[in-house]
Amino acid sequence: MEIIIEEKKVRVLPIILIICLLLGGCSFIPDNSYTETQFLLDTVCTIEAGGENAESAVKAAFDEIGKIQKQVDFYDENSTVSLFNKAEANTEITLDNHTALILKTCLEVSHASQGAFDVTVASLTEIWDFKEKYIPNPKEIEDALKNVGYENLVLDETKGTLLKKHKDIKIDLGGAAKGYCADIAVNILKEHGAEYGLINLGGNIVAFGKNPKRKDGSWQIGIKKPFSDGETYEKTVSVENYGAVVTSGTYERYFYDKDKLYHHIIDPKTGYPADNGTSSVTIMNESALLADCLSTACLVSGEEKGRELANEFGADIYIQ
Ligand code: ADP
Ligand code: MG
Repeated sequence: MEIIIEEKKVRVLPIILIICLLLGGCSFIPDNSYTETQFLLDTVCTIEAGGENAESAVKAAFDEIGKIQKQVDFYDENSTVSLFNKAEANTEITLDNHTALILKTCLEVSHASQGAFDVTVASLTEIWDFKEKYIPNPKEIEDALKNVGYENLVLDETKGTLLKKHKDIKIDLGGAAKGYCADIAVNILKEHGAEYGLINLGGNIVAFGKNPKRKDGSWQIGIKKPFSDGETYEKTVSVENYGAVVTSGTYERYFYDKDKLYHHIIDPKTGYPADNGTSSVTIMNESALLADCLSTACLVSGEEKGRELANEFGADIYIQ
């Protein structure tokens, strides 16, 4: 596998334009492509597909993501996640298939990262409010920390059930659901006969087939410089070499208080936003679900442990 990397800071658009000019203009863009954007999973989701049934393929993918959202939504009281969060201790809760699959990978990454990634971080994520710029007081953090610990979950893969050892344990799949949905969207586009597809669910990017907008058919993804204006890229990755390119960043949801940055990726050990000098982690591998969990885990673990963790799963990593 070969990655095409621009080592220097580049402006992707001008470079693409220059390449197109050199090659005598962009290749023909077929009119059988279809692109749609929706706000789902608390983020902007764009799906593009090409082929005869592109539109129905994209719509089917969005329908399925909508269904998955209903199961994993922390704030929807009828979701599987809410049913589990409200459940009593030592009671097996039957999961829908999607939630069970997400949890399996979440727990693998929780173990491997020694809790840097932890789906039971919910008690903490619940008390932070990044929209209202609310910093929980130390007592709130201390109380929430008592209810964090993935060791308190027992997933029975055969039965498809999840059990918690303490009543107040809650789960939050926000660090994994977008990646999972991106994987599912690819499958659906392919099932509908799409020739190619590009899926971007809030920075969880998956592509397959040949990009009709480039002569070489590649899908070039620029990785944003943290806190930049959105046009400055530190590196460009060819997605087709991996399948998925997933980035977690402290600049996605944050506020400043007395010059200190507070962002939405929480260190489950301290209860406060991860603070180790890492602003952005990009994971590149086949599964967007795994990449989503790992990008969050590595952002919490920091550079050294993050690299080891990615390596353990055979994933490539880019840290800023
Ligand atoms: P983004 O949502 O910006 O793509 P992530 O994939 O890293 O970023 O997911 C962040 C979300 O994951 C948070 O909004 C929260 O729901 C959840 N989360 C925060 N900290 C952790 C953690 N340490 N382990 C697991 N999930 C987390
Ligand atoms: Mg993530």
